[in-house]
Amino acid sequence: MEPVRYGVGVAVTVRAMAPATLVEIVNEWGTVPREVAGERDRPYPSGRGLDDDAPRRVADRVHPIFASATAAEAAELVNVLLTETAVVPLVVLADGRPEALWAVDRPGDALLASAALTLRDHLDRHGFTRLGTCAGSRCADVYIDTSPTRDRRYCSTTCQNRARAAAFRRRHAGSRRSV
Ligand SMILES: [Zn+2]
Repeated sequence: MEPVRYGVGVAVTVRAMAPATLVEIVNEWGTVPREVAGERDRPYPSGRGLDDDAPRRVADRVHPIFASATAAEAAELVNVLLTETAVVPLVVLADGRPEALWAVDRPGDALLASAALTLRDHLDRHGFTRLGTCAGSRCADVYIDTSPTRDRRYCSTTCQNRARAAAFRRRHAGSRRSV
C-alpha cells in the first residue's frame, strides 16, 4: 500500500483491532490489572514490533473505559481518545482499488487510535453493557461479554471458579457458626 500524504506530515493508516486483541493488551500491559493482582513486576509480553511503552500507554488509557460506571462516561472517554489522536477517515488505493481506512498523522498514536476505533465500533454495535472489569476480589482484568445471556462478571473461568469456591467457603463457615 502506498503511503498517503494527508495534511501536514505523512499519515499512518489505522484499522480497528480485534476486540480480543484489545482485551489482551489491557490485561497484559495495564498498570491497574497488574497492581490489583499483585503482579507489578511480572515480565511484559515481548514483541509484535511494539516498543514497551506504547501498549502500556494504550492499556492505561483504555482500562478506565471498561471500568466506566455509565455509557455516557465510556462514550466520553472514547471521544477523548478519538479527538486526541485526531484519527480521520480516508480512502486509500490498494492495488488500484479504493479502500476505506483511518489514519493518524503521528505514528506514535496509531495503536491508541486503533483501540479507540475498536471501542467506538463496539459501543455502536453492542452498547455499553458488554464491557466490564472482573468481579474477582484480586483481579481488575477487563472483558468483552460475548455470552448469549449477557451476564458475564469475570475475566476468566479461573476467576469465576475462585469466586464460587470462596462463596462456598463463606456459606460453609456461616452454617458451622449457626449450629
Ligand atoms: Zn479476573
